[in-house]
Amino acid sequence: MAAVADTLRSGWITTGAGCAEFEEAFCERLGCEEAVAVTSGTAAMHLALHALKIGHGDEVITPSMTWVSTVNLIVMRGATPVFVDVDKDTLMMTPEAVSAAITKRTKAIIPVDFAGAAIDIAPLRKMGAQHGITIIEDAAHAIGTIRTGGEEVGSVGTAIFSLHPIKTITSGEGGVLVTDDVEFGATIRRLRFHGLGVDAWQRGQQGRSPQAEVLEPGFKYNLPDMNAVLGRSQFSRLDELIEKRTKLVAQYRERLAGIPGIVPLGDANATNRHSWHLFIVRVDQDTAGINRTDFMSALKAQNIGSGIHFRAVHTHAWFRDHPAAWRGNDLLNTEWNSDRICSLPLFPAMSESDVDDVVNAVMHVVPAATEVRA
Ligand SMILES: *Cc1c(COP(=O)(O)O)cnc(C)c1O
Repeated sequence: MAAVADTLRSGWITTGAGCAEFEEAFCERLGCEEAVAVTSGTAAMHLALHALKIGHGDEVITPSMTWVSTVNLIVMRGATPVFVDVDKDTLMMTPEAVSAAITKRTKAIIPVDFAGAAIDIAPLRKMGAQHGITIIEDAAHAIGTIRTGGEEVGSVGTAIFSLHPIKTITSGEGGVLVTDDVEFGATIRRLRFHGLGVDAWQRGQQGRSPQAEVLEPGFKYNLPDMNAVLGRSQFSRLDELIEKRTKLVAQYRERLAGIPGIVPLGDANATNRHSWHLFIVRVDQDTAGINRTDFMSALKAQNIGSGIHFRAVHTHAWFRDHPAAWRGNDLLNTEWNSDRICSLPLFPAMSESDVDDVVNAVMHVVPAATEVRA
């Protein structure tokens, strides 16, 4: 709050020194060549798809178990999203399924690091290199996640992060594209601000002459300093916030074990440090004795909010009505989870007794837990 107030008083509230410092902090931590801060994770992905000239006739492989934003963008660019099924317990695409979906038209693969775990990316990078397909990692859930082997997500290749308030750290709204490709980074930076060679801040610093010129038509996705300084402050607390989340999740896992039909996601092998953006369980009616919808309303009645991350994209109205706009076979694990997943409350300000309250409410509303209690 202090950083935001300072910015408001400083006389420069849009993109300027605050944004530049925020971007430098990403480059320093991740060792990436470029970090470009924008107004949302969606904007970051839009710029990436635009810079790659993905369009009509192209295919982009991504899970249907993702946020709608990625798939909407693919469709709006005139390309075809090709949905690949996910592992039943990690909700992440398997290399076998991705490999089977590659065609001559595949231009990009967008893997999602789900819930804060890391996808096994080595096989995907290998396929990308083999077939000349770009990998854009959707790391909206995975800021601060570390892969088995020690690589932090975003330090290799190209990835996007989201700074929406629900995510692990926030700038109000915002997103960052990180890349180890200098030229790609420069293109993204230019496209972020009208396709001009420089932005308003640089113009101010460098004087008005020569006048900036449009090098290619671009967007207006620059992140204002008011947001960037909040993001910068949050970013400096990233490890502390992840530690808090990790403790809360350990408590959830211990206390929920043994409640029939309430099944947390499984461990992802390629993850060394999980950042725990979300804590998800699957409500299996056969064993729990209650379905997901009723489970969520019963929790609500106990004053516990919960969410769904995500309803499979291909089951949304527009995608049901436009089956020719996408491809995807055998999305069985995706659909099974889409009907059963539920995110329980998880945020760093939660206390141990808050977690107990949630678990007690779960025990109260799950009929099969009554027998366990008895
Ligand atoms: C949140 C999210 C995004 C988009 O981020 P915004 O900042 O909300 O635009 C993209 N992909 C996934 C998987 C997300 O969860």
